[in-house]
Amino acid sequence: MTVIAERPSCASVDEVGALLPVVGGTTTVPLVDGTQRVYANLDYAASAPALEAVAARVTEVLPLYASVHRGAGYLSQVSTALYESARQTVARFVDARPDDVAIITRNTTDSLNLLAGVVPDGGRVLVLDVEHHANLLPWVQSSERHGNRTTILPIARTVAETLDALRAELARQPYALVTVTGASNVTGEALPIDQVVALAHAEGARVAVDGAQLVPHRGFSLTSTDADYVAFSGHKTYAPFGAGALVGRRDWLDTGTPYLAGGGAVRDVRADRTVWQPAPARHEAGSPNVIGAIALAEACDQLAALPAGALAAHEEALRERLVAGLSAIDGVEVARIWPDSEAPVGVLTFTVPDHDPGLVAAYLAAEHGIGVRDGRFCAHPLLAHLGASGGAIRASVGVGTTSEAVDRLVVALTQYLSTGP
Ligand code: PLP
Repeated sequence: MTVIAERPSCASVDEVGALLPVVGGTTTVPLVDGTQRVYANLDYAASAPALEAVAARVTEVLPLYASVHRGAGYLSQVSTALYESARQTVARFVDARPDDVAIITRNTTDSLNLLAGVVPDGGRVLVLDVEHHANLLPWVQSSERHGNRTTILPIARTVAETLDALRAELARQPYALVTVTGASNVTGEALPIDQVVALAHAEGARVAVDGAQLVPHRGFSLTSTDADYVAFSGHKTYAPFGAGALVGRRDWLDTGTPYLAGGGAVRDVRADRTVWQPAPARHEAGSPNVIGAIALAEACDQLAALPAGALAAHEEALRERLVAGLSAIDGVEVARIWPDSEAPVGVLTFTVPDHDPGLVAAYLAAEHGIGVRDGRFCAHPLLAHLGASGGAIRASVGVGTTSEAVDRLVVALTQYLSTGP
């Protein structure tokens, strides 16, 4: 029997939530016994709640918005300035180099599909089988379209062995791009990005980082890692759904096939020819998500204003508390890809052998007001590798997660296993 519930809540851990309050942080949800309970949101990896500051910013700019770039009216000019300034903020948030370009997309999936369309003809792509489908399927599809260009490398037992396998594959044949997760959406783990970049660059390949989980949990620097591209999603970064970004080297983006064909992406159109704009306009055809971009930029500014290391420390403390609590429960196994990976971000997956993950998750929601995720988390090859093809349960934390929410999960699971649903 675990005694986690009797541990005092950890004031310093919960301070980040006070610094950056989220919308709906005290929302109550109905339980099966007819009572209400404050929702314990342990599903930040799927979508993080918007920050209150983001909601305030959206309310502030709603009266000002108009179509951007081509309107002469005052509101169009204001909106254009806000939209372009949001682009700069997003680029600054990932510490882009002066020559990098930031494209406002819908989300990480959109960003990576866009990138898959601009890899130069003949360029091969190397991806590991640890990836979220968003960083796997665009490359599979691109391979089908561009003559078998993608190699999917199986991960090895350790980080060190996986890096060796990467090195060997990069030496075996030339690659244009290596695309890796910055943090797994299943276990929060990752390969050390700077080492992947060093290996890839030594063989002339670029590196794209799927930052969907890394950016909101730890932030990211294109400059210090020297990675070539990063993709991330607004809705996991405390902004609403619908805006994300791809930031990185300009040349492929300036010349590659435009992601969408339509107005705004072109300089001149005649019956017999189209002259496309360079990036970012080249890949932003149609009316862009102006409010979404401004909201994303506000979230970036808010996260950047946190004391250095505060968010990482908050999440590490919560994750450790969760791992300690869950590991103390008989039968619960916390999944780990590699024994030698560095501190994972605030995402973890566990299995309860002989128990259907869907039923466990439904019990946690209905009886305890806890929101976790169950299934295969859009990472089927990784779940197979972890021996969890039947699915698992994922808990993930963020700025508004309290130690109380983490403890509630541990207590609820203990109850479930000792008394049944
Ligand atoms: N990559 C990772 C690591 C993710 O966790 C996710 C979403 O969970 C994605 C990519 C796709 O993100 P989105 O659904 O915002 O496009």
